[in-house]
Amino acid sequence: MSGPRAFRGRIVHCTGDPDAGGLVEHFEDGLLLVDEGRVRSLGPAETLIKNLSEDIPVTHWKGSWILPGFIDCHVHYPQLDVIASYGEKLLDWLETYTYPAEEKFADPDFARVTAEQFLDRMLANGTTSAMVFATVHAHSAKALFSAAHERNLRLWTGKVLMDRNCPESLRDTAVDGIRESRELIDRWHGQDRLQYAITPRFAPTSTAHQLDLAGQLATEYPDVYIHSHLAESQAELEWVAELFPDADTYTDVYRDHRLLRERSIYAHCIHMEDDSVATMASAGAAIAFCPSSNLFLGSGLFDLDRARVAGVRVGLGTDVGGGTSLSLLRTVHDGYKALQLKGQSLAPERALYLATLGAARALYASDRIGNFAVGKEADFVVLDPARNLLLQRRLASADTVRDRLFALLMLGDDRLVRQTYIMGRPALKEA
Ligand SMILES: [Zn+2]
Repeated sequence: MSGPRAFRGRIVHCTGDPDAGGLVEHFEDGLLLVDEGRVRSLGPAETLIKNLSEDIPVTHWKGSWILPGFIDCHVHYPQLDVIASYGEKLLDWLETYTYPAEEKFADPDFARVTAEQFLDRMLANGTTSAMVFATVHAHSAKALFSAAHERNLRLWTGKVLMDRNCPESLRDTAVDGIRESRELIDRWHGQDRLQYAITPRFAPTSTAHQLDLAGQLATEYPDVYIHSHLAESQAELEWVAELFPDADTYTDVYRDHRLLRERSIYAHCIHMEDDSVATMASAGAAIAFCPSSNLFLGSGLFDLDRARVAGVRVGLGTDVGGGTSLSLLRTVHDGYKALQLKGQSLAPERALYLATLGAARALYASDRIGNFAVGKEADFVVLDPARNLLLQRRLASADTVRDRLFALLMLGDDRLVRQTYIMGRPALKEA
């Protein structure tokens, strides 16, 4: 681990949930001091620099913004090659694009190369942590864990569990799927910054037996995560009702199999009754809000205000390949627009929160990542607004921090990323 280093620039982060008194803290000329990969102090550069030992190197990102690294609560690394594929809604999308793409991961070399490229693209977008779907092949999770370990990333993944209603080539069995998951947990869970997620694709592709065994495995490992999809499209909802006639709701399918609890992350959660949202809140389950994917696949509009009122943990997910960008900034734009259509407003403070500290909280990792509180892991991104002339012009006419932040969130994308730091070390070769 590296010795102390300081980073100077316009520094912005969230101190807490905006609904609970959290603020966006802003230092126009700030200094972030990092030691042993963790935040040691944060404040105005003018004050802090006076007490800084002369042998501590200072990297001055003049004109740039320093933000906590973005956190992607839901993304599929095997779907890089089907991003922006034309014309389908969820269930046909899976058949037409997703499954053929995932079949290629039978080849461990293909998985290894794709895992590395995926993580490098993620870092190039300023994303420093993610909850990631692999494929049904155990080696696909292993490949991603290995590549994330090399890059020292805080990352969650797991092999997909899928024992029915999918191509034969992508099917495991209830027993084998759990055995492989257990082996991966024992090998990778808690290895430095890596954590395992038990990953049934979604209820329709698992038998009740497989979900039972997955719930049993989760009970045996209370600090392991659970990652799946829930209530994304209307057609999916009808299919689940046919497949699980004894469950009152789709949410109950997971709850009845002991898969709804703290450290469980469900993508989408659009087509749900209020009772199900309350069930998620009381279980401590979290929602990955994936607006880019919801718009692209025409799945529907997520009700963020309802989730907030119910007290459910929510973070943003890109959901690539259903989503069309690995950039959390682009995902924030889509979130703002999707919520406008829903008659709701995504304030800049909440938008930043959902992409950083709120996402960390959804992943039960806000004691380690998500903002620049002293002691946290120093994952951050440097954004240079001068890389987008339209944004630069817009910022020149902004006279409040709030307006500046909103413009940055709405117009920013990966072009702005000058450097991404993982525990205080630069992660991009070409900065
Ligand atoms: Zn997904």
